[in-house]
Amino acid sequence: MVFRRAETDQQREEDENGLNIVSDEEEDDDEGEMTGDLFEPGQLCDVCSKEEGRVGLDPTCRGQYDGDPVFLCFGCLTGALQDAYKSVEGVAIIVESFDEYSDHYYYRLDEMPAYQFVREDVEAISWLLLTIGDNCARCGEQGHFAWLTRENVDEHLPENKALFRKLDGEIEHLCGACAGAALSASYKSLELPLMTVELPRSAMGIMMPTGE
Ligand SMILES: [Zn+2]
Ligand SMILES: [Zn+2]
Repeated sequence: MVFRRAETDQQREEDENGLNIVSDEEEDDDEGEMTGDLFEPGQLCDVCSKEEGRVGLDPTCRGQYDGDPVFLCFGCLTGALQDAYKSVEGVAIIVESFDEYSDHYYYRLDEMPAYQFVREDVEAISWLLLTIGDNCARCGEQGHFAWLTRENVDEHLPENKALFRKLDGEIEHLCGACAGAALSASYKSLELPLMTVELPRSAMGIMMPTGE
């Protein structure tokens, strides 16, 4: 299941009015960004140029923000994700990746309704975002993320239906370094040939597993 936007592009621009969004001007030096997939199986890791890339990190979140996509082998994955998550400003909910969902996409809180998340879910996530701020459960640094597992969602990830559950139980809060490490472990455990993952941007939002 993929959380798809149900609006026109024009409505979308209105939604984004006033937010920190890169405009739709194409940058000339982004080779081939709009042609085909960003990452392809068989390409080498952008960091070590030795091993095959397995996880493509797209900090642009499908072209909405600035940043450079980078293809990572499993060996380079943990360090790259830790660096990326340490640099995140604001807070986010992370739903761990599971099963065959090969994409891990970021949705800003304010754009969740446009992607068919129902009102009670958006309200539950808003509330959960407000609880973030305690120390990291694993290392004691400042927490920036709340970590949800597959137990916290309907595994079919239905659109237009409430999909979050058990949000009043124990929820782990993580700092950037520990979130990066936890994500790396989760991506490696799935052993999918290729995963495309994004990064929380802007002030508040949620990382959701998705894919066909
Ligand atoms: Zn590498
Ligand atoms: Zn930590």
